[in-house]
Amino acid sequence: MKTRINWPHGKRFAFTVFDDTDHTTMQNGPGMYQYLFDLGVITTKSVWPIKGEHVPKIGGTTCEHADYLRWVCRLKEQGFEIALHNATYHTSKREQTIAGLEQFKECFGEYPKIHANHADCADSIYWGDARLSGMNRLIYNVLTRFANRGKFLGHVESSELFWGDKCKEHIKYVRNFVFSDINTLRICPYMPYFDEERPFVNNWFASSEGADCRAFCQTISETNQDRLEEEGGGCIMYTHFGRADFYEDGLLNSDFRRVMERLSRRDGWFVPVSTLLDHVQKERGRHVISASERNRLERKWLIHRVFGTRGTT
Ligand SMILES: [Zn+2]
Repeated sequence: MKTRINWPHGKRFAFTVFDDTDHTTMQNGPGMYQYLFDLGVITTKSVWPIKGEHVPKIGGTTCEHADYLRWVCRLKEQGFEIALHNATYHTSKREQTIAGLEQFKECFGEYPKIHANHADCADSIYWGDARLSGMNRLIYNVLTRFANRGKFLGHVESSELFWGDKCKEHIKYVRNFVFSDINTLRICPYMPYFDEERPFVNNWFASSEGADCRAFCQTISETNQDRLEEEGGGCIMYTHFGRADFYEDGLLNSDFRRVMERLSRRDGWFVPVSTLLDHVQKERGRHVISASERNRLERKWLIHRVFGTRGTT
Protein backbone atom coordinates (compact mmCIF):
# COMPACT_ATOMS: atom_id res chain seq x y z
CA MET A 1 0.00 0.00 0.00
CA LYS A 2 1.23 3.46 -0.90
CA THR A 3 2.26 5.06 2.36
CA ARG A 4 3.20 8.55 1.26
CA ILE A 5 0.45 10.60 -0.31
CA ASN A 6 1.10 13.30 -2.89
CA TRP A 7 -0.97 16.20 -1.62
CA PRO A 8 -2.54 18.58 -4.17
CA HIS A 9 -0.71 21.76 -5.21
CA GLY A 10 2.56 20.31 -3.89
CA LYS A 11 1.42 20.84 -0.30
CA ARG A 12 3.68 19.21 2.29
CA PHE A 13 1.00 17.75 4.58
CA ALA A 14 -2.76 17.80 5.13
CA PHE A 15 -4.63 18.90 8.22
CA THR A 16 -8.28 19.01 9.15
CA VAL A 17 -10.66 18.80 12.10
CA PHE A 18 -13.89 16.91 12.71
CA ASP A 19 -15.79 18.99 15.25
CA ASP A 20 -18.24 16.97 17.34
CA THR A 21 -21.18 19.33 17.98
CA ASP A 22 -21.53 18.55 21.72
CA HIS A 23 -22.07 21.77 23.76
CA THR A 24 -22.01 24.02 20.67
CA THR A 25 -24.38 27.00 20.78
CA MET A 26 -24.69 30.41 19.16
CA GLN A 27 -22.66 31.76 22.10
CA ASN A 28 -19.52 29.69 21.51
CA GLY A 29 -19.78 28.54 17.87
CA PRO A 30 -19.52 31.57 15.55
CA GLY A 31 -16.37 33.06 17.13
CA MET A 32 -14.41 29.83 16.73
CA TYR A 33 -15.44 29.38 13.10
CA GLN A 34 -14.70 32.97 12.17
CA TYR A 35 -11.24 32.39 13.62
CA LEU A 36 -10.71 29.17 11.59
CA PHE A 37 -11.98 30.88 8.44
CA ASP A 38 -9.61 33.80 8.94
CA LEU A 39 -6.72 31.34 9.37
CA GLY A 40 -7.71 29.59 6.13
CA VAL A 41 -8.30 26.32 7.97
CA ILE A 42 -11.53 24.97 6.46
CA THR A 43 -12.77 21.94 8.36
CA THR A 44 -15.81 19.77 9.16
CA LYS A 45 -18.51 20.62 11.67
CA SER A 46 -21.13 18.08 12.72
CA VAL A 47 -24.77 18.86 13.57
CA TRP A 48 -27.88 17.39 15.12
CA PRO A 49 -30.62 17.99 12.53
CA ILE A 50 -33.51 17.66 14.99
CA LYS A 51 -34.26 18.70 18.54
CA GLY A 52 -34.73 15.76 20.88
CA GLU A 53 -37.83 15.21 22.96
CA HIS A 54 -35.93 14.38 26.15
CA VAL A 55 -33.43 16.27 28.25
CA PRO A 56 -29.95 15.46 26.89
CA LYS A 57 -27.01 14.22 28.95
CA ILE A 58 -24.80 16.33 26.72
CA GLY A 59 -26.65 19.17 25.05
CA GLY A 60 -26.07 21.73 22.35
CA THR A 61 -28.12 23.61 19.78
CA THR A 62 -29.79 21.75 16.92
CA CYS A 63 -30.73 22.72 13.36
CA GLU A 64 -34.30 23.35 14.52
CA HIS A 65 -33.03 26.63 15.98
CA ALA A 66 -33.43 29.22 13.18
CA ASP A 67 -30.42 31.44 13.97
CA TYR A 68 -28.18 28.42 14.44
CA LEU A 69 -29.29 26.89 11.13
CA ARG A 70 -28.68 30.19 9.34
CA TRP A 71 -25.19 30.28 10.79
CA VAL A 72 -24.38 26.66 9.82
CA CYS A 73 -25.66 27.30 6.27
CA ARG A 74 -23.31 30.27 6.08
CA LEU A 75 -20.42 28.03 7.16
CA LYS A 76 -21.29 25.67 4.32
CA GLU A 77 -21.20 28.56 1.87
CA GLN A 78 -17.76 29.46 3.20
CA GLY A 79 -16.55 25.95 2.34
CA PHE A 80 -16.88 24.16 5.69
CA GLU A 81 -18.29 20.65 5.49
CA ILE A 82 -21.42 19.83 7.49
CA ALA A 83 -21.51 16.33 9.00
CA LEU A 84 -24.01 14.20 10.90
CA HIS A 85 -23.76 13.40 14.62
CA ASN A 86 -26.87 11.15 14.81
CA ALA A 87 -30.38 12.61 14.38
CA THR A 88 -30.25 14.25 17.79
CA TYR A 89 -28.45 14.16 21.16
CA HIS A 90 -30.31 11.14 22.52
CA THR A 91 -31.30 7.73 21.19
CA SER A 92 -33.58 7.78 18.14
CA LYS A 93 -35.73 5.03 16.69
CA ARG A 94 -35.46 4.24 12.99
CA GLU A 95 -38.26 6.66 11.97
CA GLN A 96 -36.63 9.51 13.83
CA THR A 97 -33.20 8.80 12.34
CA ILE A 98 -34.75 8.78 8.86
CA ALA A 99 -36.54 12.05 9.70
CA GLY A 100 -33.17 13.44 10.81
CA LEU A 101 -31.53 12.46 7.52
CA GLU A 102 -34.37 14.07 5.56
CA GLN A 103 -34.18 17.18 7.73
CA PHE A 104 -30.44 17.35 7.05
CA LYS A 105 -31.16 17.20 3.31
CA GLU A 106 -33.84 19.86 3.66
CA CYS A 107 -31.41 22.17 5.50
CA PHE A 108 -28.28 21.63 3.41
CA GLY A 109 -29.54 20.42 0.02
CA GLU A 110 -27.90 16.97 0.28
CA TYR A 111 -27.61 14.00 2.60
CA PRO A 112 -24.61 13.93 4.93
CA LYS A 113 -21.50 12.49 3.37
CA ILE A 114 -19.79 11.91 6.71
CA HIS A 115 -20.89 10.87 10.19
CA ALA A 116 -19.53 10.34 13.69
CA ASN A 117 -21.47 8.44 16.36
CA HIS A 118 -22.60 10.35 19.45
CA ALA A 119 -21.76 8.47 22.66
CA ASP A 120 -25.24 8.92 24.20
CA CYS A 121 -27.16 7.46 21.25
CA ALA A 122 -27.92 3.74 21.35
CA ASP A 123 -28.71 4.04 17.63
CA SER A 124 -24.98 4.58 16.99
CA ILE A 125 -23.64 2.20 14.41
CA TYR A 126 -21.05 -0.55 15.18
CA TRP A 127 -20.24 1.21 18.44
CA GLY A 128 -19.36 0.01 21.93
CA ASP A 129 -18.09 -3.55 21.79
CA ALA A 130 -19.35 -3.91 18.19
CA ARG A 131 -16.34 -1.81 17.12
CA LEU A 132 -14.02 -4.70 17.94
CA SER A 133 -13.64 -8.24 16.75
CA GLY A 134 -12.86 -11.62 18.32
CA MET A 135 -10.40 -11.54 21.19
CA ASN A 136 -10.12 -7.73 21.03
CA ARG A 137 -13.82 -7.47 21.75
CA LEU A 138 -13.40 -9.60 24.83
CA ILE A 139 -10.43 -7.50 26.03
CA TYR A 140 -12.48 -4.32 25.44
CA ASN A 141 -15.44 -5.72 27.37
CA VAL A 142 -13.22 -6.64 30.30
CA LEU A 143 -11.57 -3.18 30.26
CA THR A 144 -14.96 -1.45 30.21
CA ARG A 145 -16.54 -3.95 32.62
CA PHE A 146 -19.04 -4.99 29.97
CA ALA A 147 -20.72 -1.55 30.12
CA ASN A 148 -20.91 -1.24 26.32
CA ARG A 149 -21.70 -4.83 25.43
CA GLY A 150 -24.50 -4.98 22.89
CA LYS A 151 -25.53 -1.43 23.83
CA PHE A 152 -25.45 0.17 20.37
CA LEU A 153 -27.89 -1.12 17.79
CA GLY A 154 -27.84 1.07 14.66
CA HIS A 155 -26.44 -1.85 12.65
CA VAL A 156 -28.70 -4.57 14.11
CA GLU A 157 -31.42 -5.30 11.56
CA SER A 158 -33.91 -6.73 14.05
CA SER A 159 -33.72 -3.62 16.27
CA GLU A 160 -36.14 -0.68 16.17
CA LEU A 161 -33.00 1.51 16.20
CA PHE A 162 -31.65 0.03 12.93
CA TRP A 163 -30.61 2.46 10.19
CA GLY A 164 -27.62 0.62 8.70
CA ASP A 165 -29.29 0.47 5.27
CA LYS A 166 -29.69 4.27 5.26
CA CYS A 167 -26.10 4.74 6.38
CA LYS A 168 -24.96 2.54 3.50
CA GLU A 169 -27.19 4.40 1.05
CA HIS A 170 -26.26 7.97 1.96
CA ILE A 171 -23.06 8.20 3.99
CA LYS A 172 -19.59 7.70 2.57
CA TYR A 173 -17.41 8.02 5.67
CA VAL A 174 -17.85 7.10 9.36
CA ARG A 175 -15.36 7.78 12.12
CA ASN A 176 -13.88 4.93 14.10
CA PHE A 177 -10.69 4.75 16.18
CA VAL A 178 -8.94 7.77 17.71
CA PHE A 179 -5.19 7.82 18.50
CA SER A 180 -2.77 10.28 20.07
CA ASP A 181 -0.43 10.43 17.03
CA ILE A 182 -0.77 13.69 15.05
CA ASN A 183 -0.22 11.77 11.81
CA THR A 184 -3.53 9.93 11.55
CA LEU A 185 -2.45 8.39 8.26
CA ARG A 186 0.65 6.90 9.84
CA ILE A 187 -1.18 5.26 12.72
CA CYS A 188 -4.03 4.13 10.44
CA PRO A 189 -2.42 3.67 7.00
CA TYR A 190 -5.45 1.72 5.75
CA MET A 191 -7.92 4.59 5.85
CA PRO A 192 -10.36 5.12 4.36
CA TYR A 193 -11.15 1.42 4.47
CA PHE A 194 -14.09 -0.95 4.10
CA ASP A 195 -14.53 -3.65 6.72
CA GLU A 196 -16.37 -6.74 5.47
CA GLU A 197 -17.47 -7.55 9.01
CA ARG A 198 -19.22 -4.16 9.21
CA PRO A 199 -20.89 -3.87 5.81
CA PHE A 200 -23.31 -1.01 6.54
CA VAL A 201 -20.42 1.45 6.70
CA ASN A 202 -18.96 2.25 3.27
CA ASN A 203 -15.62 3.60 4.53
CA TRP A 204 -14.14 4.02 7.98
CA PHE A 205 -11.63 6.66 8.99
CA ALA A 206 -9.56 7.20 12.12
CA SER A 207 -8.77 10.46 13.93
CA SER A 208 -6.21 12.07 16.19
CA GLU A 209 -7.03 12.87 19.79
CA GLY A 210 -8.22 16.39 20.59
CA ALA A 211 -11.24 15.77 22.81
CA ASP A 212 -10.66 18.96 24.81
CA CYS A 213 -8.41 22.00 24.42
CA ARG A 214 -5.52 20.48 26.34
CA ALA A 215 -5.49 17.24 24.38
CA PHE A 216 -5.91 19.20 21.14
CA CYS A 217 -2.90 21.44 21.84
CA GLN A 218 -0.84 18.47 23.01
CA THR A 219 -1.49 16.50 19.82
CA ILE A 220 -0.66 19.42 17.53
CA SER A 221 2.28 20.70 19.58
CA GLU A 222 5.14 22.43 17.72
CA THR A 223 7.27 19.25 17.74
CA ASN A 224 4.41 17.16 16.42
CA GLN A 225 3.62 19.71 13.70
CA ASP A 226 7.23 19.46 12.52
CA ARG A 227 7.01 15.69 12.38
CA LEU A 228 3.69 15.77 10.50
CA GLU A 229 5.31 17.94 7.86
CA GLU A 230 8.50 15.83 7.67
CA GLU A 231 6.42 12.71 7.20
CA GLY A 232 4.23 14.36 4.58
CA GLY A 233 1.37 13.09 6.71
CA GLY A 234 -2.34 13.67 7.07
CA CYS A 235 -4.01 14.71 10.32
CA ILE A 236 -7.72 14.48 11.12
CA MET A 237 -8.26 15.94 14.57
CA TYR A 238 -11.38 14.89 16.49
CA THR A 239 -12.56 17.56 18.88
CA HIS A 240 -15.43 19.30 20.66
CA PHE A 241 -14.98 23.02 19.97
CA GLY A 242 -18.05 23.65 22.12
CA ARG A 243 -16.14 22.67 25.26
CA ALA A 244 -15.61 25.49 27.74
CA ASP A 245 -11.83 25.11 27.94
CA PHE A 246 -11.38 26.33 24.35
CA TYR A 247 -12.24 29.78 25.73
CA GLU A 248 -10.79 31.93 28.48
CA ASP A 249 -12.25 35.28 29.56
CA GLY A 250 -14.47 35.35 26.50
CA LEU A 251 -11.52 34.83 24.11
CA LEU A 252 -10.18 31.73 22.44
CA ASN A 253 -7.62 29.90 24.58
CA SER A 254 -4.14 31.36 24.05
CA ASP A 255 -2.32 27.99 23.73
CA PHE A 256 -4.85 26.96 21.12
CA ARG A 257 -4.29 30.16 19.16
CA ARG A 258 -0.52 29.76 19.36
CA VAL A 259 -0.44 26.24 17.92
CA MET A 260 -3.13 26.91 15.32
CA GLU A 261 -1.49 30.07 14.06
CA ARG A 262 1.87 28.34 13.74
CA LEU A 263 0.28 25.43 11.91
CA SER A 264 -1.75 27.63 9.55
CA ARG A 265 1.40 29.47 8.40
CA ARG A 266 2.95 26.24 7.19
CA ASP A 267 2.57 24.81 3.72
CA GLY A 268 -0.32 22.49 4.50
CA TRP A 269 -3.50 21.49 2.73
CA PHE A 270 -6.33 22.66 5.03
CA VAL A 271 -9.52 21.13 3.69
CA PRO A 272 -12.61 19.40 5.15
CA VAL A 273 -12.38 15.77 6.25
CA SER A 274 -14.20 14.28 3.22
CA THR A 275 -12.03 16.26 0.80
CA LEU A 276 -8.92 14.86 2.47
CA LEU A 277 -10.28 11.30 2.49
CA ASP A 278 -11.50 11.51 -1.13
CA HIS A 279 -7.98 12.48 -2.13
CA VAL A 280 -6.36 9.61 -0.20
CA GLN A 281 -8.84 7.16 -1.72
CA LYS A 282 -8.18 8.50 -5.20
CA GLU A 283 -4.42 8.09 -4.71
CA ARG A 284 -4.58 4.61 -3.23
CA GLY A 285 -7.81 3.08 -4.49
CA ARG A 286 -10.47 1.58 -2.27
CA HIS A 287 -9.03 -0.48 0.54
CA VAL A 288 -10.70 -3.52 2.10
CA ILE A 289 -9.11 -4.09 5.48
CA SER A 290 -7.76 -7.61 6.02
CA ALA A 291 -8.31 -9.56 9.23
CA SER A 292 -4.68 -9.09 10.31
CA GLU A 293 -4.72 -5.34 9.56
CA ARG A 294 -7.93 -4.98 11.53
CA ASN A 295 -6.48 -6.94 14.41
CA ARG A 296 -3.39 -4.70 14.48
CA LEU A 297 -5.49 -1.53 14.37
CA GLU A 298 -7.81 -2.69 17.15
CA ARG A 299 -4.84 -3.67 19.32
CA LYS A 300 -3.20 -0.28 18.83
CA TRP A 301 -6.45 1.38 19.85
CA LEU A 302 -6.85 -0.77 22.94
CA ILE A 303 -3.31 0.16 23.95
CA HIS A 304 -4.13 3.83 23.34
CA ARG A 305 -7.22 3.51 25.54
CA VAL A 306 -5.19 2.07 28.37
CA PHE A 307 -1.99 4.17 28.14
CA GLY A 308 -2.58 7.11 25.78
CA THR A 309 -4.12 10.57 26.06
CA ARG A 310 -7.74 9.66 26.21
CA GLY A 311 -10.93 11.63 26.03
CA THR A 312 -12.65 10.64 22.85
CA THR A 313 -14.59 7.39 22.92
ZN1 LIG B 1 -20.93 13.79 20.65
